[in-house]
Amino acid sequence: MAYRRRHSGQMQAAAGDSAAVAAIAPVQPPRPAKRSTKRMMRQYDLVERVRAYNPDTDEALLNRAYVYAMMAHGEQTRASGDPYFSHPLEVAAILTDLKLDDATIVAALLHDTIEDTEATRAEIDQIFGHEIGALVEGLTKLKRLELVSREAKQAENLRKLLLAVANDVRVLLVKLADRLHNMRTLEFVPPASRRRIAEETIDIYAPLAGRMGMHEMREELEELSFRELDAEAYGVVNERLNALAERNRNLIGEIETQLRTNLTSHGIVARVVGRRKRPFSIWTKMERKSVGFEQLSDIFGFRVVVQSVEECYHALGIVHTVWPVVPGRFKDYISTPKQNDYRSIHTTVIGPGNQRVELQIRTEEMDRIAEYGIAAHAFYKEGVGSPTEMLNRESNAFAWLRHTIEVLSESANPEEFLEHTKLELFHDQVFCFTPKGKLIALPRKANVIDFAYAVHTDVGNSAVGCKINGKFAPLASELQNGDEVQVLTSRAQSAPPSAWEALAVTGKARAAIRRATRAAVRDQYAGLGRRIVERLFLRAKIAYDDEKLKGALPRLARSSIEEVMVAVGRGEMKASNVARAMYPDYKEERIGLFGGKKDNAPARDKPAPTASAKSVIPIRGINSDLPVKFAPNGGAVPGDRIVGIVTPGEGITIYPIQSPALKDFEEEPERWLDVRWDVDDSTPQRFPARLFVQNVNEPGSLAQIATVIAEHDGNIDNISMSRRSPDFTELTIDLEVYDLKHLSAIIAQLRAKSVVARVERVNG
Ligand code: MN
Repeated sequence: MAYRRRHSGQMQAAAGDSAAVAAIAPVQPPRPAKRSTKRMMRQYDLVERVRAYNPDTDEALLNRAYVYAMMAHGEQTRASGDPYFSHPLEVAAILTDLKLDDATIVAALLHDTIEDTEATRAEIDQIFGHEIGALVEGLTKLKRLELVSREAKQAENLRKLLLAVANDVRVLLVKLADRLHNMRTLEFVPPASRRRIAEETIDIYAPLAGRMGMHEMREELEELSFRELDAEAYGVVNERLNALAERNRNLIGEIETQLRTNLTSHGIVARVVGRRKRPFSIWTKMERKSVGFEQLSDIFGFRVVVQSVEECYHALGIVHTVWPVVPGRFKDYISTPKQNDYRSIHTTVIGPGNQRVELQIRTEEMDRIAEYGIAAHAFYKEGVGSPTEMLNRESNAFAWLRHTIEVLSESANPEEFLEHTKLELFHDQVFCFTPKGKLIALPRKANVIDFAYAVHTDVGNSAVGCKINGKFAPLASELQNGDEVQVLTSRAQSAPPSAWEALAVTGKARAAIRRATRAAVRDQYAGLGRRIVERLFLRAKIAYDDEKLKGALPRLARSSIEEVMVAVGRGEMKASNVARAMYPDYKEERIGLFGGKKDNAPARDKPAPTASAKSVIPIRGINSDLPVKFAPNGGAVPGDRIVGIVTPGEGITIYPIQSPALKDFEEEPERWLDVRWDVDDSTPQRFPARLFVQNVNEPGSLAQIATVIAEHDGNIDNISMSRRSPDFTELTIDLEVYDLKHLSAIIAQLRAKSVVARVERVNG
């Protein structure tokens, strides 16, 4: 994440003042664990905690595990100096907050015994049974993985983690609790390891907890990592939050009271909880929307918990009647739950004191799932079946986990897997509908192209337009929650434009586009090749016919006419070679295409001149018989991903893939050519690019800019002034550079100049 790079500095924890907000914050900000202040939990404390939610708990089993783990760890200590046993005990305690079954609690107590003590799987099986033995072994495997793959990539870690929990999701729950306790006691770990642990936590464990619907767990993991990775930002946000909480102390009580009174007068008994946002979520919001702290109005939220779904909507109606609604903030996750099972109604109103108030309205059951996620399903109920069976039936989150593990076993390498999973793991979803009301869930930022492929590959391949909520819209439109999307298809389009691959967000759409365009590109080359061959024959005044070419196939070492045409279209074979294979006495001079007399060297050994007689543009995938030029407004340089657009009668224009001008050709896939640069570091050629520069009006500023470009070996082709105000001048500079790296270096040098306010690359 971005903030990691920005502040690479100090690590010491910020001293947040939690007292100021304690009154309104049921969730306490993370605090450093202090050995001296925390008494180790006693055996009966643990049993009491479990009995509080599970009267049928097997107390003897819990006691046996407590004593066994304590004896096994013996004199071992943690980095903090605490007895080692305090760690498994705290992990077990975290899991009692999640109200988990006996087997999970016992597995937590035993989770480090096989790896770190004399204990063995056989012994644990014998004393605690096979179910617990299997859980502890799963956790041991995970721990060993962590030790050996410390240097390995994140992707590999995540992959192994998920594979290891495939058999029993309770292993994941213990693992998350283990990580949470380690994060809470991170201050005792040597500084060198802290950062790695915090990064891994924020990249893998926190999103995974979120994906499992364990909201509290995710937030605390994020907070603790944030504090470690960017102590400075954490401190600033926390301080501001505290100040704001102090200033609004009365207002918050007032809002709570008014909410409760209004609901009660309509016969709804509600639990209303004021809820303070966490520094990390505020910080990411500030980063994502690049707004300042003061512009974030929704720093305080309220949760309204009622008895039934009907009451949720009733309460919503009351709130909307009493206070004005902030438009665009209403979300109904009750009728359309998030994929991690989260359900709630969200809305924002202008409450007392003109304060924007964010509300979550939900039932007790929804509240439980919002806090505990998959763990809310995991508690074993007598006669219902094993926890895993229950999860299978009840939980979307578990279905996601299963699905992810399936994808995992299919994908060839960990990077591919991470690409596939990261989007789903790290971003929220948008939910859209087909005109018939079928729900299509997509990752956030997905567009209509993704939607079309999610419906069906054929729909994607033949999509030519769309209507969003009844209105025509571009296919690249980003989808919003609740959009109804009608994809317009055309049989005339057999394959999508190759540029869609860059536009699509989902792996599924990208793969399908790649497949379809590969076939289409081959057809295109074949068509292009045929045009070139036919044109040559026409000019040479020889009759072309397929039968004659068939006879010449062995001489061309090709097995079909199509192959020949593709080779010509790709520029791998000269049309004149085809002619010579068919008519051995064919002489190239007879065409007189380019006027000049040629020597006798075989034509394929030297580049053919282009119609413009300029130097050859080093691009693969086009035949040099066709004139090639660069995008007129902005050019293209090696390093850019490029496409060629065929203009009949004119030739091929090379555009960088990011060029907005490509939109104009979206509806004509037959004009798109898949092309590549054919250059290396030694290519002496320069290529055109365009820059937009905003500079301060100061004597000599223009000269400074020109000097920077010249000093860095850039060729200025043209400078034009697009706008001039008293303070600033806006320039468009056409220049020639070797490649993208060269261009970026020039841009960076320009940005470093004090007379330069802004520099952007322009793509026409
Ligand atoms: Mn542990």
